[in-house]
Amino acid sequence: MKIDVISIFPEYLSPLNLSLLGKAQSSGLVEINVHDLRKQTADNHNTVDDTPYGGGAGMVMLPEVWGKTLDPMLEENSDLIILTPAGKKFTQKMAESFAKSSHLLFACGRYEGIDDRVRQHYCQPEYQVKNIRVHEVSIGDYVLGGGEVAAMVIIEAVTRLIPGVLGNPLSLAEESHNDEGYLEYPNFTKPQEWRGIAVPEILLSGNHAEIAKWRKAQAEKRAKENL
Ligand code: SAM
Repeated sequence: MKIDVISIFPEYLSPLNLSLLGKAQSSGLVEINVHDLRKQTADNHNTVDDTPYGGGAGMVMLPEVWGKTLDPMLEENSDLIILTPAGKKFTQKMAESFAKSSHLLFACGRYEGIDDRVRQHYCQPEYQVKNIRVHEVSIGDYVLGGGEVAAMVIIEAVTRLIPGVLGNPLSLAEESHNDEGYLEYPNFTKPQEWRGIAVPEILLSGNHAEIAKWRKAQAEKRAKENL
């Protein structure tokens, strides 16, 4: 999978080179390229924003600098993800769908966000015939300062679903949110007792059927309490 991330703060994305994602890049499973939006600016000040038409607080990101940056990157069969708190809420289902893509492109907004004509432009039929899909995505009902952290959240959730990225693929079985309304049961490891709290007896019994029953009940209890 190829991933392009566009931001005015490319250094913000440096954690993408660590841990599983770092390994996935070294092994060639994932290719991540981070691009500085300011490289496509046309003035000495590297301006990427201007005041909003219609008035109001804040600044809006200029469409032309985004267009110039995105045009050469948007090859056939790409998913352009525009990060915005006003987008569709990111879920595990969405992660599974993005994991099937060959090319994800993340547009990280700053200020009041990106001029909406960027979204409108790439939704046009000439892009649809090339299988270029545009998604406005939010990672939750709160407002961040920029799209970089949101892009990293989505990239981490998506790439761990790519075969070979996780050391043990069985880790993906029985995970929270695999099915709607499912949360994983609580987990325990050694020692058997820690600070006076013992591991539930049933987990030491070796009775797999009873353990599965207990875990199912715990998962249901959690879902009732937390969802
Ligand atoms: N004026 C915008 C609004 O009220 O919807 C908020 C802009 S926010 C300060 C700046 C940028 O941060 C957005 O363009 C987006 O890229 C990113 N951002 C903020 N919150 C986000 C969220 N919950 N999910 C995804 N991206 C977010």
